[in-house]
Amino acid sequence: LQQGRKLGMALVGLGGYAKNQLAPALQQTQHVRLAGIVTGTPAKADEWMAKYNIPKANVYDYKTFDRIIDNKDIDIVYVVLPNSMHAEYVIRAAKAGKHVICEKPMATTVKDCQEMIDACKKANRQLAIGYRLHYEPFTQEMMRLGREKVFGNLKFLEASDGFKAGDPTQWRLKKAMAGGGPMMDVGIYAIQGVRLVTGLEPLSVTAQFAPKTDPQKFKDVEEGMYWQFEFPNGITSTSTTSYAAGVERLYASAENGWFELRPAFGYGPLKGMTSKGPIDKPVVNHQAMHMDGICKDLIDGKQLPKHITGEEGIQDMKIITATYQAAETGRRIKI
Ligand code: NDP
Repeated sequence: LQQGRKLGMALVGLGGYAKNQLAPALQQTQHVRLAGIVTGTPAKADEWMAKYNIPKANVYDYKTFDRIIDNKDIDIVYVVLPNSMHAEYVIRAAKAGKHVICEKPMATTVKDCQEMIDACKKANRQLAIGYRLHYEPFTQEMMRLGREKVFGNLKFLEASDGFKAGDPTQWRLKKAMAGGGPMMDVGIYAIQGVRLVTGLEPLSVTAQFAPKTDPQKFKDVEEGMYWQFEFPNGITSTSTTSYAAGVERLYASAENGWFELRPAFGYGPLKGMTSKGPIDKPVVNHQAMHMDGICKDLIDGKQLPKHITGEEGIQDMKIITATYQAAETGRRIKI
């Protein structure tokens, strides 16, 4: 990759996140630009070509996608499809010789995650997951406060992420496409939150499903979930995720004080407070920081930091799998 030039990115799947967050963010990025699109909807192709000045040669559909191998304008592919489609398109992108960013959750099974990692390794291409918060300053401060034990040894954490899911026909409510309910979609941010702040891996999990207050809407996936992790050194965490109502916070209590973000996981602005006073950090565009962070490392020929790679994605998928198992069996599951 040539120093001093912007990488060309192709977005795969022009849904809500691509349209409302990623494409606008790509107008602000320094190290990457929107160069191509992959869509199954011809009307979107026309609209995006006009709006973002994308040449027809850089527009693909799901059948023609593999021809991207011949396209020198595209260095990196960003897969923004429903969860069950991530594995196939990451693997096809790697085979086409492109670096890949894959949205969270990385896939719907641990096996798929491993195949994605293997395909990228085999193609000698790097794989990052869409964990946009790793480059976000409030989140980084929470990591520093926890890992550097600024308030002493951590004792317990509370991390929850949920929202009211509207449209009952959306793919997020279909197990085959989503892999699960709110746990797969936003609960994963609560898992990320406690892993980031502690810098540790949970040893075991207990979990419970929330009652189904709308069994018709949630016939295929959970409406909500509660779970508890035990970490090394006696640290514990409790979490909630939900498609029934909103919640968004990350709280850590340590021997000599506490620190929290609320809101903690949305697009921002995030807000932070500690027992000593507010967390004061710049408000940034999460998506622009995330894509720039990754693309800068790729241009510099560096290995991406492990906590944004497929290794992080597969670890979350292992934890999620254990959490579902704990809720289904009522047992404490070792991770
Ligand atoms: P949308 O439903 O809004 O968009 C998905 C797009 O995928 C569709 O518009 C369509 O694009 C394409 N697609 C191809 N096949 C199908 C199919 N069978 N059913 C539905 N869509 C299909 O989803 P989002 O944009 O909200 O989410 C996409 C991914 O991004 C998910 O994995 C989600 O978890 C993740 N996400 C991450 C966020 C974050 O903060 N990191 C925030 C929001 C989402 P086309 O018409 O172009 O073919």
